[in-house]
Amino acid sequence: MRVGVVSLMHESNTFAGGTTPLAAFERDTLVTGEAVRERYAGTHHEVGGFFEQLAEDGIEAVPLFAAWTMPSGTIEWEAADELFWRMYAARQEGGRVDGILAAAHGAAVAGGEPDYDGYWLPLVRQDIGRAVPLIGTLDLHANLSPRMVAVCDGLLAYRTNPHLDQRPTGREAAALMARTLRGEVRPVTAAAFPPLAVNIEAQATAEEPCRGLMAVADDIRRRPKVLAVSVLLGFPYADVPEMGAAVTVTTDGDPDLAKRYAAELAGWWWDRREQFRGNLISVEDAARRAAVEPGPVCLLDMGDNVGGGSPADGTVLAHELLRQGVGPAFVCLHDPGAARAAGAVGVGGVLPGPVGDRGAPLPGPFTVRSLHDGVFEETEARHGGIRRFDQGPTAVVERPGLTVMLTTRRTGPFSLRQVTAFGLDPARFRVLVAKGVHAPVAAYAPACPTLIRVSTPGVTSADLSRFAYHHRRRPLYPFEPETTWTPEAV
Ligand SMILES: [Zn+2]
Repeated sequence: MRVGVVSLMHESNTFAGGTTPLAAFERDTLVTGEAVRERYAGTHHEVGGFFEQLAEDGIEAVPLFAAWTMPSGTIEWEAADELFWRMYAARQEGGRVDGILAAAHGAAVAGGEPDYDGYWLPLVRQDIGRAVPLIGTLDLHANLSPRMVAVCDGLLAYRTNPHLDQRPTGREAAALMARTLRGEVRPVTAAAFPPLAVNIEAQATAEEPCRGLMAVADDIRRRPKVLAVSVLLGFPYADVPEMGAAVTVTTDGDPDLAKRYAAELAGWWWDRREQFRGNLISVEDAARRAAVEPGPVCLLDMGDNVGGGSPADGTVLAHELLRQGVGPAFVCLHDPGAARAAGAVGVGGVLPGPVGDRGAPLPGPFTVRSLHDGVFEETEARHGGIRRFDQGPTAVVERPGLTVMLTTRRTGPFSLRQVTAFGLDPARFRVLVAKGVHAPVAAYAPACPTLIRVSTPGVTSADLSRFAYHHRRRPLYPFEPETTWTPEAV
């Protein structure tokens, strides 16, 4: 038995400035054939889980294609088209396969194809034919569409946010593939789409209200004939009709049971919809609390959520901490110009500044404390399953009360190594700003007894009333608070 492995993953923030070209994938991940195995085997990524489980089941893994880039704006159509054709060519090259494991994100938007995952997965199905099993994995933040469900025998999403179970999710998908190929099970999948946008702030799976929702999903998963249950929290920063919550249930050959359970789970969720709105703590309140709560305090900058496609240069929290005199504080900013300028003046030199977001930069002068190549490694299971980080030439600069890390490449705060690898001790700070909502938690919680999610402005603001949607579903709760829905599945 031979199972092809493909991966095409992007979380597209349609509110982020600019579009995502092919070059972005070429810079991050765009590989075919054995290079896919080299990139992912042994990692915490779901594709690493595919390889691991297929080997345990004695099935030959045929690495075909993998493309990924950091969350960013809508994928340019030329890039989206090219990615699919490269995947298609790699599939041809790989020869006959008995099944395909496909790692999708589920929230990819391409120019002209807003439901991009619902575009390329059907093309894979068309390519391999109806008889060959196609099992997909999804990010918990997928904006699921009926097109994705219709062409996949099984769909399995991560169950944790931050995403620490990518490899186990990949293993589970591969195990389901193995059982399917051995003729032990015949997976069929149904989905339900409650008209609900879940606030990013309410998406921590270890905390309520998500914990209760996941417990109900787990309960359904333990019932007879159930092979998989997935909860999709959705990605609210995509102005597309598919934006919102969804669930999938995969049963062994019983489509009606799958539909019934999917409707049950979605109905439980819908009944508790008001719990899935955020708290929206203001910048001023967060800085005040950061001065008194047990430190170091991690302030999560929700409006500049790098993992959600933001610029990573937001200065709102740093400005407020300086204004209130709360420190010493740390913030990492994507500012290639300032990083280069710091490199030019050298360690001990003075960087006149300003640095960060050109709309509201942080004024200098700064002292250049250290300079680095920006490369670090993370070996623990952290959000994203990334092992090697490269944020490009990096400078650590200081002014009284504030230490700023300046990077040349936009890098998410998924690993505390980003701080410690460059000679900084988190314990030295009163406040560390991390640009994310849930993704940084696994990295920062061990060093920070207090974490506060802050409602900052930006292209990933938790305050969804700041965004002008033109293409989302209507009605959709909580935008239209009077929305009604009768649980049903497709
Ligand atoms: Zn995600």
